[in-house]
Amino acid sequence: NKDLIRVIVTGSNKGVGFGIIENLAAKPYHIIMACRSLDRANETRSKLLQTHPHAKIDSYELDIDSTDSINKFVQQIHQHYGHVDILLNNSGMAFKGDEFGTHVVEQTFRTNFYGTIDLTEKMLPYIKESGKVIFVGSSAGKYHNVKNNQQILQQLQNPHLTKDQLFAVAKQFYDDVKDDTYAQKGWAKSAYGMSKLCINLYASVLSRFGSVIQKKLQVYTCCPGWVRTDMAGQQATRSIQEGAVCPVYLVELPFQVKPELQGKFFYDQVVTPL
Ligand code: NDP
Repeated sequence: NKDLIRVIVTGSNKGVGFGIIENLAAKPYHIIMACRSLDRANETRSKLLQTHPHAKIDSYELDIDSTDSINKFVQQIHQHYGHVDILLNNSGMAFKGDEFGTHVVEQTFRTNFYGTIDLTEKMLPYIKESGKVIFVGSSAGKYHNVKNNQQILQQLQNPHLTKDQLFAVAKQFYDDVKDDTYAQKGWAKSAYGMSKLCINLYASVLSRFGSVIQKKLQVYTCCPGWVRTDMAGQQATRSIQEGAVCPVYLVELPFQVKPELQGKFFYDQVVTPL
């Protein structure tokens, strides 16, 4: 068991996250499921153990919308294992249909951006040296969301973008939705797209943290493609097994930083511009 690579996968009770742990269950990994409902996590775990009886899978409760839940989760991980090798942030949400407004922006960013970042930064001390942080971002999170706002576009494209600047952009988007000036200011009408642009960019911001550089952590973000899940629906083109391929590729990359890949966005296993 000592040789197993310990990987946390958030939101792995279903969808792409399940595809990821199903793939890893056949390989030398110790899988830590981090799910909003422990019951649903355990159901999924039992199902997976039927086909992979030798897999090592543990399940924990984690709601990334809740600071208390994040704190409790991180504390448990530290107490039970000390450190993990990889944190794979897969959890995400999207409103269905055209619903839009501050409540949509707030909820979408809470899960896809602020909660994901809170978990990541609290986990950093408990990720082993030369470990990895991987985000499941999205191709919906590209610069096209801000193409009509040159000032924001330039800020976000700055290779030295800081966390404070990124958070200021996220807040500006919220404020402009609140004032109903987002259209004239050139933001796309997509809370999901903006949240995924921000988390895709956070990967490169994180890769420049002093502690991340010092610990030689690898940081990546990726898109699974258009996958048949509860989020995307049954008309999507990829199975969850296909959707898992790129995240699993990043999990399996050798534990060695390649500067040209650090903080980058991957689609179909290759670095792709945002
Ligand atoms: P699903 O809706 O099938 O699964 C989402 C997972 O995230 C579920 O396990 C869900 O838990 C979990 N989750 C949602 N909110 C929280 C929260 N607050 N705390 C903890 N877990 C949470 O979606 P997908 O599998 O499609 O999505 C997985 C990732 O892939 C997301 O980040 C999504 O944005 C991204 N993606 C998906 C694409 C697609 O075509 N499907 C395309 C591009 C990106 P619960 O079961 O409790 O709801």
